[in-house]
Amino acid sequence: MRNLETLRQPLEDKVVTISRASGSLTFPANFVAVCAMNPCPCGYYGDERKECTCSPSSVQRYQKRISGPIMDRMAPCAHCMSDIHLQVRRVPYEKPASLDGGESSAVIRGRVETARRIQAARFAGLGKAGMLVNGDMGPAEVQQFCSTDEAGRNLLRAGAYHRVLKPTRTIADLTGEEAIRTEHLAEALQYRPRGGVG
Ligand SMILES: [Zn+2]
Repeated sequence: MRNLETLRQPLEDKVVTISRASGSLTFPANFVAVCAMNPCPCGYYGDERKECTCSPSSVQRYQKRISGPIMDRMAPCAHCMSDIHLQVRRVPYEKPASLDGGESSAVIRGRVETARRIQAARFAGLGKAGMLVNGDMGPAEVQQFCSTDEAGRNLLRAGAYHRVLKPTRTIADLTGEEAIRTEHLAEALQYRPRGGVG
């Protein structure tokens, strides 16, 4: 768990500082963190086919092994700093996605590349170094580029705007649409940790 602690600085400041006796150096460290964990010691908490054999207190203890500050940034909690949370189900053996009409990675890659080009073009005129994707937006850009209609505003509760609007902007970009629609917002809200959009 100590190794995880070292992620705090880059997650927050997008730089990493390495200190040695001879001095310290700071390097850029802007990255997308994708993390996965089991829900409980046995691994079946929430599974639809196999029952979890853990006691509620051991599930709680297991999830608490990650420190508060790291948990705040990456795990389902009301004050979470991460933009997307997803509970993933087991993949059934007998039905791999490739036989089920699922999209190929190449097709998905094309869509992601298009969305990133849209984003780079969006920010190109702003003259802000390092602002390339929606995740880099500050409050001013969120206000400028993520306007929603009345229905959308009703979906959002106060305080959670930026956490939800940035992924919403990306979902709209992935569909190639300029205007954010309610369904884009509804999808982004699905990726919030349970218990609210906080
Ligand atoms: Zn379990």
